[in-house]
Amino acid sequence: MKILVPVKRVIDYNVKPRVKMDGTGVDLANVKMSMNPFDEIAVEEAIRLKEKGVATEIIAVSIGEQKAQETLRTALAMGADRAILVVSETEVEPLGVAKILAKIVAEEGPGMVILGKQAIDDDSNQVGQMLAALTGRPQGTFASKIEIDGDSIKVTREVDGGLETVSLKSPAIVTTDLRLNEPRYASLPNIMKAKSKPLAQKTPADYGVDVTPRLKTLKVAEPPKRSAGVKVADVDELVAKLKAMGVAA
Ligand code: AMP
Repeated sequence: MKILVPVKRVIDYNVKPRVKMDGTGVDLANVKMSMNPFDEIAVEEAIRLKEKGVATEIIAVSIGEQKAQETLRTALAMGADRAILVVSETEVEPLGVAKILAKIVAEEGPGMVILGKQAIDDDSNQVGQMLAALTGRPQGTFASKIEIDGDSIKVTREVDGGLETVSLKSPAIVTTDLRLNEPRYASLPNIMKAKSKPLAQKTPADYGVDVTPRLKTLKVAEPPKRSAGVKVADVDELVAKLKAMGVAA
């Protein structure tokens, strides 16, 4: 089974985002960028399936600026076989990403696409679901376990009340949740090897997709600053304060 793994280059999850002075977005100048954490989990899952002999080839795809090559090289160093970079120097919205991925799915015919459940920069949580709709393929979102038996893909999903298991028929779309696995670090020899793995370059126009933005960001603001806490001497004082605030009866 061929597996397609879309990976997005996003602000590193350890970096505290700074909002631009004019409130038009997050300041990305000189900020560390990395692979979206949920996508690292997706790459790891694809590699484990290849190690088990279930997956035959892993293709990593990224849509973004030239620098997204670094993200693809990381996926290749982890164990993906080849990569496709769809270059767009302007931000592509989730629908545009899903439309491009749908074209790549039609071209490559993967048995499964594993995406992150959301990109941590825009927190959209849309691409996987849109891709399933555009391709007419079944979807299993927020996977905490994936079991494959022939063309049956069993996905255990994290839902509010606990776990739900759904059975999908391949080809299908799956999105990863945090507890699916713990991604590996790429070893130095694999980082070196990744430099010679194939990386194809395309543009949205090659797939006939118009990526003109449909949304306009009106304002981006920092969350309100938390006010300083107060130290209390004992439990009685704490309860008295909570009562005064109307929190405790
Ligand atoms: P989102 O719907 O934007 O929160 O993204 C969900 C998932 O779609 C991500 O975890 C990625 O797997 C994939 N994705 C989103 N944007 C891109 C992109 N520009 N390039 C590649 N994959 C993407």
